[in-house]
Amino acid sequence: MTGIYIHIPFCLRKCPYCDFYSREYSEEKMQAYVDAVCRNISSLKGRGIAADSVYFGGGTPSLMSASQVYKILDCTNKSVTLVSPEITIEANPSSTDYEKLCGYKSAGVNRISFGVQSADDEQLKTLGRLHDFKTAEQAVLSAQRAGFDNISCDIMIGVKGQTADSLGSTVKSITALPVSHISAYMLKVEQGTRYYLDEQMRRLAEDDERMSGLYLSLCSQLAQAGFEHYEISNFARFGKRSRHNMKYWQREEYIGIGCSAHSFSDGRRLACQQDIDEFILSNVQKNVLIEEDIDQAFEYIMLSLRLADGLSLDRLARLKGAEYSQQVKKRAERLEREGLARIAGGRIALTDRGFLLSNSIILYLTDS
Ligand code: SF4
Repeated sequence: MTGIYIHIPFCLRKCPYCDFYSREYSEEKMQAYVDAVCRNISSLKGRGIAADSVYFGGGTPSLMSASQVYKILDCTNKSVTLVSPEITIEANPSSTDYEKLCGYKSAGVNRISFGVQSADDEQLKTLGRLHDFKTAEQAVLSAQRAGFDNISCDIMIGVKGQTADSLGSTVKSITALPVSHISAYMLKVEQGTRYYLDEQMRRLAEDDERMSGLYLSLCSQLAQAGFEHYEISNFARFGKRSRHNMKYWQREEYIGIGCSAHSFSDGRRLACQQDIDEFILSNVQKNVLIEEDIDQAFEYIMLSLRLADGLSLDRLARLKGAEYSQQVKKRAERLEREGLARIAGGRIALTDRGFLLSNSIILYLTDS
């Protein structure tokens, strides 16, 4: 079934490491943008689309009022068939409160993902975040009080000043909260961000040994706390994998609405223009083709090896022939001997150490 992604490209302030598309928030722009999102969703009417996930990503979707979220979801409900949908909103701890969270819940949102990043206030300052950990804690508890039982938190790995101990304290503090899902991302310093201009930040982000040590300690701590490591960067309590994000890794279709939102449909990848004013003024968003004639076998290997479930050798054989599938298996046996992969039940999956080398491993497995 299809997933619907809605990009809300407004933030109160740009974080120094962030290269996502976002602009400064204003109430008027947000209202005009929400109206444009609804126009685009209405244009899906009559196409027989059935969706089981809606995801508000950003930017900072929690800058929307509950009535704006309701308006978009109401419009979605009237334009596509929603089948017991998982409806997620990304939220900044500093832009939510109990009333707003109750409003989101009544609007139909049933999953919330907080950008907590760290339990260490110094690290949060370094990341340019507007909240301290106390605020994040209150936000999670308010979400629980508002009726959310599917709460995710983001953790950043590799922040300046972070040690295995301080990362351990962050994991401990966050897993002590009523949280059922954790996404943990390694800090990357991308061109065009403020961090990119800071040589020390660049050096820190490129220190693979430090990053690997932090990642592996986080993986084992989360495993001990009862979280399944189901994707390179994602960990969930039983039954709480992100249904929407699984679509990206399982090559299922999704429709992206809003500036810079991506879509995947009929084997083609499209992206919407990155201009808020143009998006607001146009009747229907302009999508640009970014990829077609995709090498399905390569993409299947690349995406499925992100998952702990790994890839099916039978499916690979169906995509590219039995000989190719056997060649991949043979190479994976060497990785297994080195503790980087597991082969069982006709599937190949990477270990935590393998995840750290996934780019090189994919090239090795697919090299002709
Ligand atoms: S709040 Fe999120 S999207 Fe906005 S600038 Fe910070 S990291 Fe980027």
